[in-house]
Amino acid sequence: MSSQAAHPTLLIPGPIEFDDDVLMALSHPSESHVGAPFVNVFGETLSMLRQLFLSTDPSAQPFAVSGSGTLGWDFVAANLVERGEDVLVLHTGYFGDSFSTCFATYGANPTQLRAPIGSRPSLAEIEAALKEKSYKLITITHTDTSTGVLSDVKAIAELVHRVSPDTLIIVDGVCSVGCEEIRFDDWGIDVVLTASQKAIGVPAGLCILMVSGKAIERFNNRSTPPSSYFASFANWLPIMRNYEAKKPSYFATPSPQLIRGLYTSLKQITSIPMEERFAKHKEVSGVIKKAIGEMGLKQLAESPECQANGMTAIYLPEGVGAPDLLPKLLAKGVIFAGGLHKEIATKYFRFGHMGVSVMNGDLGHINKALDALRASLTEAGYKC
Ligand SMILES: *Cc1c(COP(=O)(O)O)cnc(C)c1O
Repeated sequence: MSSQAAHPTLLIPGPIEFDDDVLMALSHPSESHVGAPFVNVFGETLSMLRQLFLSTDPSAQPFAVSGSGTLGWDFVAANLVERGEDVLVLHTGYFGDSFSTCFATYGANPTQLRAPIGSRPSLAEIEAALKEKSYKLITITHTDTSTGVLSDVKAIAELVHRVSPDTLIIVDGVCSVGCEEIRFDDWGIDVVLTASQKAIGVPAGLCILMVSGKAIERFNNRSTPPSSYFASFANWLPIMRNYEAKKPSYFATPSPQLIRGLYTSLKQITSIPMEERFAKHKEVSGVIKKAIGEMGLKQLAESPECQANGMTAIYLPEGVGAPDLLPKLLAKGVIFAGGLHKEIATKYFRFGHMGVSVMNGDLGHINKALDALRASLTEAGYKC
């Protein structure tokens, strides 16, 4: 049983429900950010991030910096490209547009490779795009949270290594790290960026990055300084290296409480093989998608291989609007999210299934949500 105050079950694609122990860790008494107890916890947290990303490469560096997932975009745009350089953004929904805008803000030159809503650019299209220009980096939204479309990071990384080996591979894993398979070393990824509040199950407020040695070398060889102060690798790299070596260090004050929350969550996550965690998310996602299909509902992501395992984006049935459905769900103690993709925002809703709600079946979150969805649709006049 949870020790948390009664509350509706939050099943949106982040923030997700929190484990009791993670919440308890946040109420740690105030402490110095350069004192030994905190420095040790931060150091171990960074080491556990390597396990989360399945990386043992000592030239790579994990980061945990106060901010949200969006700060990860700024880190990439401010440190790994320079003004006027070309970057290729694979577009599978809303987040491709905003990552592009971030690049443009820093003076880089983004090209988006778009796919119709609910699908993803094909490998052949990506190959053709890579051969057109010399791109400094390519970005992949692993799960686009606006559409529930999953990208095949492994296959895209293989392709990039083959046809454009100097192009850095950047993965926006904000909605995938902790629920989808990611093998940082094996797949040869250069940056995975994520945030604390999605599948990692920690309150919002931390930007988490894993950066390859190759990306750090690219940064070191810049001809101009990084174009941000707070999001500068020059400022944060020594700090992260020091903390990981359990040496106190200061550039900007970290949040000891959030880092303790992350520490607690990563202890839980790394207590079983990552493979088990990926498999469990896949299994539960399969159950949800089957139930959705049996209700006669359609997903935005049509083909099974491009359906994310940490969330499902579902078209509303004819005659049922989100302003009608979502309050009915809330009355049954379940919170889903409305649509986000600009072109079809009013036509669908989103069900997030990540973290404790998936890993701890005893909580009963998923069955409760599916029952609430069936009942709410019936109340709204739809025959499941
Ligand atoms: C949530 C999300 C972001 C933005 O993260 P914030 O923590 O809201 O700044 C970026 N990319 C994806 C894929 C996301 O799901």
